Amino acid sequence: MASKTPLTEDQLAEITNILLERKRAIEEELRRNLSRVLEEGGEDTTVVNVEEGGESRVDVGKEMDFQVMSMRTQELRQINEALLRIEMREYGLCEECGSPIRFERLRVMPFAQLCRSCQEELEKEEKERQLALRPAPKE
Ligand SMILES: [Zn+2]
Repeated sequence: MASKTPLTEDQLAEITNILLERKRAIEEELRRNLSRVLEEGGEDTTVVNVEEGGESRVDVGKEMDFQVMSMRTQELRQINEALLRIEMREYGLCEECGSPIRFERLRVMPFAQLCRSCQEELEKEEKERQLALRPAPKE
């Protein structure tokens, strides 16, 4: 079977590790959040996130939990999709133009589905759309 992914097995393994690590952290965070919401009701609580590169302390209220949780759920979905693409050996190809996405880019953004030029194109279009919606700035 022809492998479509531009990445080597080692590179795929590295990305898989990054994704699985992230997935575990998110699942853990979701579980903690969920049990806290259930146990403590609406009180503000403090969560300590220990991640690579340091420790950050954030105050989180119940509504915040909700936002964070839906963000994390979304991220989980992206992780699962990326893992599936790795399994299908389709990982690392731009969804738009089909050209390989650089490994350095994937390492930083393992969910990237577009190559850099397509991403920039998309962002440019997005910006133009927003500019078109906004009244012209006064000089
Ligand atoms: Zn592309």
